[in-house]
Amino acid sequence: MKSNNSFFIMLLTIRCLTLVCVSQDFDFFYLVQQWPGSFCNIQRNCCYPTTGKPAADFGIHGLWPNYNNGSHPSNCDPDNPYDESKISDLIILMQNNWPTLACPSGNGTKFWAHEWNKHGTCSESVLSQHQYFKAALDGKKAVDLLQTLEKADIKPNGTSYSLNQIRKAIEDAVGFPPGIQCTVAPSGNRQLYQVYVCVDTSGKKFIRCPLMPKEKCGPSIEFPSF
Ligand code: AMP
Repeated sequence: MKSNNSFFIMLLTIRCLTLVCVSQDFDFFYLVQQWPGSFCNIQRNCCYPTTGKPAADFGIHGLWPNYNNGSHPSNCDPDNPYDESKISDLIILMQNNWPTLACPSGNGTKFWAHEWNKHGTCSESVLSQHQYFKAALDGKKAVDLLQTLEKADIKPNGTSYSLNQIRKAIEDAVGFPPGIQCTVAPSGNRQLYQVYVCVDTSGKKFIRCPLMPKEKCGPSIEFPSF
């Protein structure tokens, strides 16, 4: 009887350990990209990176693990802080696709470290630091928002477009409707700011968003130049 019990306890321990090791502690990712022209219109003193003015393209804001109930984990592992030596082969790609616009000007390290420490550590059961940044870069490349919008004749030149038109153009490319956030420019106009697409827990496949982020766009959105 005693040995039966120990065997049972051993099995239970192995099962618990397995669950702890392989379970993800989140339900999906938001891949969030932002239009620098709109960021700079609200943060009127946005600062270009020390490495130079970013391209007139959407930039990555972050890859954020989320729960289906709308909340999200954050700062999950202080023992695994951002370590640039783990992603040295990605830095040029990060400079080109994940530009910091905060002031004072920086080379990006502070922004990327914030994103890893706050969000990335919460998906470390699935993606290492290198895999995390690579997944965000790959996701941006797979969507190519600017090209997608320009193909639908939606151009960053100060023209206004309907929210539906923008959403549909992105949905046609990604397969699922995106979440869209706007900022209010000093002129009072709503401007296209951030685009959310959802990615499965492997960080590799676009999925239909289990829930959309809060959107505050009117029916008509300006797409400013940068
Ligand atoms: P998060 O904490 O990941 O939700 O990001 C929000 C923070 O990121 C805020 O402090 C923003 O001002 C900052 N932020 C957003 N976009 C950028 C950017 N392109 N460069 C630097 N900081 C940014």
